[in-house]
Amino acid sequence: MTEPTTPMSQRSHQQGATDAAHEDKCRRCGVACHIAVPLGDRAIVVPGLHCRFLAEESPGLFSCTVYGDRFAQAPWCHHADVAGPLGYLAEDCPYGAPDRGKRRVDEVEFRAMWPHIWRILRSWGVPNFVHHADFLAAVHARTGREWELVPMHGPADADQPFADDMQQMRLRALPTSPDA
Ligand code: SF4
Repeated sequence: MTEPTTPMSQRSHQQGATDAAHEDKCRRCGVACHIAVPLGDRAIVVPGLHCRFLAEESPGLFSCTVYGDRFAQAPWCHHADVAGPLGYLAEDCPYGAPDRGKRRVDEVEFRAMWPHIWRILRSWGVPNFVHHADFLAAVHARTGREWELVPMHGPADADQPFADDMQQMRLRALPTSPDA
């Protein structure tokens, strides 16, 4: 049997194993596809703040809607072999590296962390590749206000591929929902 090969056009962060045994290890928890905020020495997953291509099929079970073509459609996406050592996977992920990774906490714990996480989200912003509607709905549910995402800096550099997707966005309260 021929081992699957990696297309030469793939970037270094997209390269890694593609065999069935590798793929079968995935638990489809979706943690890797969420953005996490640092809190002490931990990285806490923010519910609703995830890649625009992530779908929740049933509670706690996620899938990528472009998985077979993700490295073309989602250039920010890292192969698990690369993401593990960088701490981009779940802390208990079968692909992960020891003592690294993102933590998903229960709602009670997350609520206690929310003031810190909210401050980080407001000052750092979020990348444009996140699912805007899901994130804004999650923020609305926690703040009781309506928000929009607007570019944090000037126009993205048109010469950079996928610059618009990587553009950092900031939260702005809608006029009907004054920002305190
Ligand atoms: S493109 Fe990558 S980061 Fe986005 S949902 Fe698919 S696997 Fe996750």
